[in-house]
Amino acid sequence: MRKPVVPFPYANGTTNRFGRSSLGGGVSAANSNTKIFQHGQIALNTPPAPRHLAAAPNLGLNSERSRGMMIQRLRNQGIQDERVLHAMMTVPRHVFVDEGLASRAYEDAALPIGHGQTISQPWVVARMISAVCENRVPVKVLEVGAGCGYQAAVLAQFIKEVYAIERIRGLYELARDHLRALRLVSRVRLSFGDGTAGLTATAPFDAIIIAAAGIKIPQALLEQLAIGGRLIAPEGTTAQRLILIERTGPATWHREELESVRFVPLRAGTQI
Ligand code: SAH
Repeated sequence: MRKPVVPFPYANGTTNRFGRSSLGGGVSAANSNTKIFQHGQIALNTPPAPRHLAAAPNLGLNSERSRGMMIQRLRNQGIQDERVLHAMMTVPRHVFVDEGLASRAYEDAALPIGHGQTISQPWVVARMISAVCENRVPVKVLEVGAGCGYQAAVLAQFIKEVYAIERIRGLYELARDHLRALRLVSRVRLSFGDGTAGLTATAPFDAIIIAAAGIKIPQALLEQLAIGGRLIAPEGTTAQRLILIERTGPATWHREELESVRFVPLRAGTQI
């Protein structure tokens, strides 16, 4: 049985490999990009990484083993798409979090990335990508809410054209640095802006993933979906659910409600 949520144990002020020290207040029930379990519990309290991994001086070497464990856990949680599992096995998630949190990078938890935002829980990333890619091979995909760039990096492992938008300048720069470090900067077309308007000049998209929760899925994004394409987004305020939408015709969309989740809010405008 899962334990209840406890306050996030890491304080502000650690530095990452780019010398930043910008972690926000940490993960709470209000900002976590996680799946919700019964009675409002969320999956923050997965067992800590084995001690030898947490203490290892070279996480890079050991990370492959912890990533393998993460993939096995995702399989046990019902993720079946081998493209997604392979992509998540390839992308080093620890590179996307602050150095002080790197030893926790392969737990099934959202982690703070600064500016009050989080890197999504691995299960959430896997679930969202699997849902929009089910029985299809999307070529052009848009992510709204790039954060630190992790989900975009996962998408770029098997999607030909990945577009990602981030509204907070500091996070846009962080994502750009991470994608650059992994030589993915030419594979992900990252932009700074308000993603609720989408990218009209580039649309239509075969898939759209919104990584932040709004009260309603923006109509502009529904209109930028190709016919037959899929969009997934958390919807709601305090009670949120993942919503999967498939565009079935020029003016018709099929809507399905999936799991209960808790995401950071989708906000209009940009933040410098
Ligand atoms: N995709 C990330 C999750 C980041 S959290 C990952 O790989 O883990 C969600 C992000 O959505 C935050 O960085 C937040 O700033 C951003 N966001 C919220 N509203 C937005 C908007 N209107 N346009 C673009 N980004 C937005």
